[in-house]
Amino acid sequence: MGNAELLAELSEQAAKHYQSFFGTSYLFNKTSLAAFKSSIVDGLTLISNAVEHKERPFTGISPQDLAEKFRDVDLDKPHHSMSRALNEVNELYLNDAVYFHHPKYMAHLNCPIVYPAIVAELILSSINSSLDTWDQSAGGTLIEQMLIDWTCERLQLGSDADGVFTSGGTQSNLMALLLARDSYCEQHFIHSVKQDGLPLASSRFRIFTSSVSHFSVQKSAAILGMGYQSVVSVKVDDDFKMDIEDLILKLKQCHEDNLIPIAIVATAGTTDFGSIDPLIEIAKVAKMNNIWMHVDAAYGCGLLTSNSHRHRLTGIEQADSVTVDFHKSFFQPVSCGAFFAKSKQHLKVVTHHADYLNPLSQSKEGTPNLVNKSIQTTRRFDALKLWLTLRVMGATQLGAFFDQLIELTLNVFSLLKDEPDFEVLNQPELTAIVFRYAPKVLEEKTLERINPEIRKSLSKSGEVMIAATKFDGRHYLKFTFLNPELTLSDINLVIQKIKKVGQSLSVSEAPYNHQ
Ligand SMILES: *Cc1c(COP(=O)(O)O)cnc(C)c1O
Repeated sequence: MGNAELLAELSEQAAKHYQSFFGTSYLFNKTSLAAFKSSIVDGLTLISNAVEHKERPFTGISPQDLAEKFRDVDLDKPHHSMSRALNEVNELYLNDAVYFHHPKYMAHLNCPIVYPAIVAELILSSINSSLDTWDQSAGGTLIEQMLIDWTCERLQLGSDADGVFTSGGTQSNLMALLLARDSYCEQHFIHSVKQDGLPLASSRFRIFTSSVSHFSVQKSAAILGMGYQSVVSVKVDDDFKMDIEDLILKLKQCHEDNLIPIAIVATAGTTDFGSIDPLIEIAKVAKMNNIWMHVDAAYGCGLLTSNSHRHRLTGIEQADSVTVDFHKSFFQPVSCGAFFAKSKQHLKVVTHHADYLNPLSQSKEGTPNLVNKSIQTTRRFDALKLWLTLRVMGATQLGAFFDQLIELTLNVFSLLKDEPDFEVLNQPELTAIVFRYAPKVLEEKTLERINPEIRKSLSKSGEVMIAATKFDGRHYLKFTFLNPELTLSDINLVIQKIKKVGQSLSVSEAPYNHQ
């Protein structure tokens, strides 16, 4: 027996010994494929049951009652059985999960997902590639890069653009402000923040964004050492779009106060209203002031595949950077997002060459190491989900979904407008409507009490999930439509339900009023 065979025999013995001692090892490899497949089938059965029998998007269970079910779980006492552990997952998670695919889920920006993407999710988890370096991903890197180039083209960012997949809009917005800040310092102070940290002047840096932009702008400013104080809130007009006059005024004020404008963050699809800031005008202002323009299209990116409404994003091609969230409006599972820069050299701000991982020599040889463009190191191959979606369905079908949703939302808008008991706040541009139950006979104080209660009551029954928000200090309700199978009559039923709940909540106050 040669050394190699001896070793093989020994390791086989060791494996057998291990298995008799500890039971199945559960390591995923050639020998566990049969067990893996049958476990996948068990998992699939669980998923199918959950989805097939869901009458409501949510059971309405309270955090206290759900926590009660966890009381006897001892993490140090494993089940040693896939089926028992799966049953437990069913009890603790699936039974009371919130189901985004359900037609009565119309709360937040969570889309139903297409199943080619779920198949991709299984593949990418099983093979477990990490997209930081070529030598951990090979074809995965090329797939991601091809999707980045495809999206750059849809964004019309030009031939020098590049990007990278991210965990979502928050990380993309953070990258945007990081690049904006560092590029400003480089250009105006010949100062490298990467090398030397923040310059003294950074406390005077200012970022302009509308009052209804996403909170991750503030959060990023804080993380980047500029603080909330650096974010200047620009007024919105009646359509919840950034008011250009106010932007110009505030920029002027900024210069007068000896402060330093470094970036404008425009939103293409605000989280609450779906409003798209005037991108063309903002681009002009950014150019005139020689400052960075970022477009947060986490929500509005759905228009990139739209057959009828792509023109609403015109101006985005002039942005220095763009945020795109495929898990918001490309019907992809969480997480799947990306960040783009018009000029790829700016991405070097996040490049760090480590000898063990991505040495400079590899870059010089042309090895594509995506870690050079990312703030993450180990990174999921989320791109495969979008890849399989595009290869199976094509972008046109995704765009048709989005167009359908935009049309549906306009119809709901007309419907709500015709209901005397409702007040609608926004003329929808994408798929979100902010409104409130507001019969003329009720006082403002009562409306303020009732509207949040309507949402709570619906959520508690689990029958319908809608969202709530505040504007100008008032409480509103919100529909976000992302399910292309929703019909106007489904939604009309929900509207009637809201009215009924609203009526009963206002009646419950009646005895009070008469006392
Ligand atoms: C959702 C959202 C974000 C944040 O994206 P995540 O993927 O949740 O991190 C940023 N901007 C806008 C406009 C959004 O709607």
